Amino acid sequence: MDKLTKAERSENMKRIRARDTRPELLVRRLVFGLGYRYRVHYRRLPGTPDLAFVGRRKVIFVNGCFWHQHEGCSNCAQPKTRPEFWMAKLAANKERDIVVTRLLETLGYQVLVVWECETEDLRRVERRLKAFLASS
Ligand SMILES: [Zn+2]
Repeated sequence: MDKLTKAERSENMKRIRARDTRPELLVRRLVFGLGYRYRVHYRRLPGTPDLAFVGRRKVIFVNGCFWHQHEGCSNCAQPKTRPEFWMAKLAANKERDIVVTRLLETLGYQVLVVWECETEDLRRVERRLKAFLASS
């Protein structure tokens, strides 16, 4: 018994937030290589940060450029089908990111966002991670 059309199902699949994506795994590996230990998908903090450094009060999000609408990035073009649905959906994602960041900052956390497209240049990402984690 499957009441969903093929199109509806594929949209449902896409809606599920990706976990353990390739960019995320790359970032985790870099951070681990820098000697830092962290919690993954830490549910006790707003937004379930992808990497949480609780003792250091720092968190890292690895954001998909499309889902989180990376500004000015070519990966975030909106789909041509059902534009009103996507516009609302993606705007809500972006709004949630803003709220989550504020909440975390209120709790005294520093927040770093690594965009999916940035993981194409791992050296650069590593420098950013290093600077972020070493700062007080
Ligand atoms: Zn991007």
